[in-house]
Amino acid sequence: MQQKFISDKIAIIGIGLIGASIALAIKHKKLPYRVGLYDHNPAVRNEARQLSIGDEICEELAEAVAGAGLVILAVPVGAMAAVMQAIAPHIEDGAVITDTGSTKRSVIRDTKDLVPEQCHFIPGHPLAGTEFSGPAAGFAALFKGRYWLVMPNGADPEKVEALEELLTRLGAMTEQMTADYHDRVLAITSHLPHLIAYTIVGTAVDLEQDMKNDVIRFSASGFRDFTRIAASDPTMWRDVFLNNDEAVLEMMQRFSEDLTYLQRAIRWQEGDKLFDLFSRTRDIRRSIIDAGQD
Ligand code: NAP
Repeated sequence: MQQKFISDKIAIIGIGLIGASIALAIKHKKLPYRVGLYDHNPAVRNEARQLSIGDEICEELAEAVAGAGLVILAVPVGAMAAVMQAIAPHIEDGAVITDTGSTKRSVIRDTKDLVPEQCHFIPGHPLAGTEFSGPAAGFAALFKGRYWLVMPNGADPEKVEALEELLTRLGAMTEQMTADYHDRVLAITSHLPHLIAYTIVGTAVDLEQDMKNDVIRFSASGFRDFTRIAASDPTMWRDVFLNNDEAVLEMMQRFSEDLTYLQRAIRWQEGDKLFDLFSRTRDIRRSIIDAGQD
């Protein structure tokens, strides 16, 4: 593969589900890169070492970033600015920096004065994940057939192309968009569904006492599916809601209007309205399966 970054070293900061999966995918695909990783949690660094993730688990952030042609920030979105500030003195001129954060406007806003002048920051977001976190949750096939959204954000097109080529080699399909558009789309496709899952499971927990533990005992598939989503990492999701507040609040407003519509339909026994909606939503599920994104 033609070398398009300034060196063949990739640094990954944050060794959780996403950071570990990127390192494992690079190794699995036998891509010609050396991968150095760093996490601020010593227990996570040890675990990653035991799992043989990447070529080197560094004890210092500076060591991981030194000489890297590409630096990938895979920490919660609330920590991106602090990490950008910490890597700035150690990063090579000409290096590309990307992130994997689930919100994009906030990451650009929080880091815009911290990105070193001679570096190229290209925000990104892999639409791939599970409810698990930590290095042991990582797996090489996580990005296979999944979208990886890229925000060129005014960066050198050649660097954007180099990043997209790497992401494609990890198995992902890349698509460019603006941070604004990203945050609105993700608010409805990912953030609101997580908020609903957290709410339903929270409500059930409150009912648990009254219902003598039967909520968990008889959890049919509907509730079970919500508990899977509601088991997602609390730090990551707290940061997502605090950092995509505007778009999430807008989608919640629309959602609550639609919920009121259904409430009325049930109250007035308007079965046709329920049937029409449920038929449309079933078609959406079918088109997601047809697109291979289920
Ligand atoms: P994760 O499993 O919780 O891993 C994040 C790791 O970063 C943790 O080990 C964390 O340590 C560490 N960390 C936090 N602050 C740090 C800092 N200042 N310096 C160095 N390390 C630091 O999270 P993840 O699921 O991999 O997510 C990483 C990023 O990708 C997030 O921005 C998330 O929004 C995004 N993302 C996640 C998913 C998903 O489904 N999980 C999907 C797409 C994108 P501590 O926990 O000890 O603080």
